[in-house]
Amino acid sequence: MRVALVTVGDELLAGDTVNTNAAWLGQRLAERGVDVERITVVPDRESDIARVVNEYHAEYDAVIVTGGLGPTHDDITMDAVAHAFGRDLVEHEEVYDWLEETRGYKRENLAERTAYMPDGAHLLKNPEGVAPGCIIGDVYVLPGVPTEMKAMFETIADDFVGEARFVETVVADEPESHLIDRISDLKERFDVTVGSYPGETVRVKIEGRDESTVTEAADWLRQRVDPP
Ligand code: ATP
Ligand code: MG
Repeated sequence: MRVALVTVGDELLAGDTVNTNAAWLGQRLAERGVDVERITVVPDRESDIARVVNEYHAEYDAVIVTGGLGPTHDDITMDAVAHAFGRDLVEHEEVYDWLEETRGYKRENLAERTAYMPDGAHLLKNPEGVAPGCIIGDVYVLPGVPTEMKAMFETIADDFVGEARFVETVVADEPESHLIDRISDLKERFDVTVGSYPGETVRVKIEGRDESTVTEAADWLRQRVDPP
């Protein structure tokens, strides 16, 4: 399963907020064997969000959008997603029912836009907050607040499935450039993908669909590098 993430917010582009939602979702999806193939940050601008959602909806099996869900004027993600699907933004009665029943809110005390979602969208209840999320087509719209986003993702996690993947990391205390030949040799011998991440040492991440192949590949490399 191939997935794209779209994170919405001017504050992410300005560097005022670190995009922890993308990192967290990337890890959770990878654990489930799902391939995250795009992570895009877009400003709080309706046309930009709509264009990217439209494009990724056509290309990927699912799209997860986070941020810009609240009822305030700068929260335009729902408008943009409706726009991407050529749908109207309409009031969803089930949002009021959910907030009245589980949170004790009175409909008249809620901001008008609270219950507006694209026509035909399915409500995703927010376990940690008031802003609802939704599913439309294979597009999942989640809140920006990290605690809310995580809690809502857990309610839909089972929709995201892929083949199991196994990972081992080998740490080498050598310059990355010295490892080039051994890493190409490794890739020729074993059916694995290899990433190398230099820092004080080099972390070589070996990934594959078959557990014993990954273990053998990691052992093979470990015997041929300087340990830290
Ligand atoms: P609310 O329901 O509170 O209106 P929202 O869905 O409208 O939430 P935003 O207004 O976009 O979300 O962001 C709410 C908070 O979450 C902000 O403090 C923002 O910086 C933070 N946030 C938004 N997106 C991300 C992200 N990708 N990673 C980390 N934090 C984020
Ligand atoms: Mg925002």
